[in-house]
Amino acid sequence: MTAPWAERMAMARALALGESVLGTTSPNPPVGAVVLAADGTPVGEGATAPPGGPHAEVAALAEAGERARGGTVVVTLEPCAHTGRTGPCADALLAAGVTRVVVAVPEPTSLAGGGAQRLRDAGVEVEIGMEGPAAEAGALASWLTAVRQHRPFVVWKAAATLDGRVAAADGTSRWITGDAAREAVHRLRATCDAVVIGSGTALADDPQLTVRRPDGSTAPRQPLRVVVDRRGRLPATARLRDGAASTLLSDAATAGDLLAALYDRDVRRLLLEGGPTLAAAFLREGLVDEVVLHLAPKLLGAGAPLVGDLGISSITGALSLTVTDVTRRGQDVEIRLRPDGRS
Ligand code: ZN
Repeated sequence: MTAPWAERMAMARALALGESVLGTTSPNPPVGAVVLAADGTPVGEGATAPPGGPHAEVAALAEAGERARGGTVVVTLEPCAHTGRTGPCADALLAAGVTRVVVAVPEPTSLAGGGAQRLRDAGVEVEIGMEGPAAEAGALASWLTAVRQHRPFVVWKAAATLDGRVAAADGTSRWITGDAAREAVHRLRATCDAVVIGSGTALADDPQLTVRRPDGSTAPRQPLRVVVDRRGRLPATARLRDGAASTLLSDAATAGDLLAALYDRDVRRLLLEGGPTLAAAFLREGLVDEVVLHLAPKLLGAGAPLVGDLGISSITGALSLTVTDVTRRGQDVEIRLRPDGRS
């Protein structure tokens, strides 16, 4: 019998494994799994591979081999029971002779659901809910929001001066923040399936929107670059048209239409990097799930504000947010927030 503490340590490891593949698994969830042998010794671990590759449980079972027989599998999401591009994980667990499965979060989709029941029907002990809240708030948070609401989870990232300006009066906005904050943005992009800006930002800044490593090299996996360009203003010479990553030009009329189209393209986690107009469009429709704000210790006194008109005229109508984390990034401060009313 495996000691409960061994299972808790295995779940902590499984949660970390899920975090390590965030941004590489969509439309599949970023899951982590650990196999404990019958005596409780960890003998295998795995995380969801990119689409078409093995799910976390299958990768962990492959590493464990025969040592999984009579053992326990600890996994962040309920094992799937359906055949997609890979076979059902529930069947792989049965074939491996696992006798107990510990799950953090139940499968929310009817398509892949039923794994726990299939295991129980075959005599496997299944426990659901260990570290459930931590798992829901961790690597699975974006995917859970996406499949429940049929739209990508939206992270709005912005860099502003202390007085909330994202550009100077002449429109220049490069290098508001320092190196550490910019490196953090590249790490954040790497966790997302797509990055979106409006044509205004594309014209003003001519950004490349790629993920680069600290040494300046381009990362092997790049999120889809999306430009909302209803009037076809993006010039042929724009850096967004280089071959460094795929680019989608969207003529979506609303933020909701854009999200629906991106969900159909398997985007589950979207980084909103546009200027004040695009940010306001998303905020007005309640379509921002998380905010990552880099505040630089600078003042401009004039220039574009962080966000455009939200249709709010009185302080009682202010959109309020909750701070979830604060981190120093060199001279800049990174604040993470959630709009109130979102979990
Ligand atoms: Zn699976």
